[in-house]
Amino acid sequence: MDHLLNADLHCHSVVSDGTLTPEVLALRARDNGVELWALTDHDEIGGQDRAIAAARAAGLPYLTGTEISVTFAGETVHIVGLGFDHHDPALTEGLRQTRGGRGLRAQEMSEDLARAGIPGTYEGALKYVGNPELISRTHFARYMVEAGFCRDTPEVFRRYLTEGKPGFVPHRWASLRDAVGWITGAGGIAIIAHPARYGFSPNEEYALFTEFKAHGGQGVEVVTGAHSAAEALKYAGFCAEFDLLASRGSDFHSPDESHTDLGRLPHLPGPVTPVWERLRHRIHA
Ligand code: AMP
Ligand code: MN
Ligand code: MN
Ligand code: MN
Repeated sequence: MDHLLNADLHCHSVVSDGTLTPEVLALRARDNGVELWALTDHDEIGGQDRAIAAARAAGLPYLTGTEISVTFAGETVHIVGLGFDHHDPALTEGLRQTRGGRGLRAQEMSEDLARAGIPGTYEGALKYVGNPELISRTHFARYMVEAGFCRDTPEVFRRYLTEGKPGFVPHRWASLRDAVGWITGAGGIAIIAHPARYGFSPNEEYALFTEFKAHGGQGVEVVTGAHSAAEALKYAGFCAEFDLLASRGSDFHSPDESHTDLGRLPHLPGPVTPVWERLRHRIHA
């Protein structure tokens, strides 16, 4: 196993804000040539047993996964966890708490959108929710497209649901320390997800990587659906600078919405150390 492995270690199912089941994702990953897979639902590991079983049935090597929402320097940052024990009590409880505020947040989002002339979005979003504990902005976006307020979900996020726009409700997620601690405490590796997506200044980004390392974080997504080739090279450089392992994942959510399909990603640039080299003992084969 090396940096040319077709690993896809970031995607979402109906257990969070994806549109496919873990079973269908496993088959799609295998058919697309994925050689090592992880399902990383937002703030949730309730789909892990299904993903493990589906991957085994498909003959697909599998790592447990999740993507934890974190508040750092007033911004939302996502931390992917891989290769943990998904029965670990502290991880399970930490994720449960992290999911906890989503219901109230969604009702406030709906009230704010109603004030902007878009009624009924809470009820509308619920039609798209697969997990009652995980109502997300993605479900609102799907409903607002269906109801004709926007043409597609990127347009929803350009006009609504983001900082300064109708429907945005600030939220306090997990701390960086807790999220990294839950993952590593359960025997997994913590990874900064899609770093180029955050609006940090160079100083803030340096602080994020430095604190992440100090808490025991070990990896960064170098190749993701959200990165350009130049961004992948930038974060490959960060792997050397911060002594981090490199990860790779599409962040696939839906055949209708995601521009990067499972396994259809550039290879990791050399000479990084792939995160899977440190997770061999955690692979479900
Ligand atoms: P939430 O966890 O409720 O804040 O929702 C975050 C999710 O919204 C992300 O995981 C993406 O799936 C989706 N999302 C956020 N920003 C965008 C965007 N600009 N375009 C499309 N989807 C987005
Ligand atoms: Mn998502
Ligand atoms: Mn994310
Ligand atoms: Mn994601």
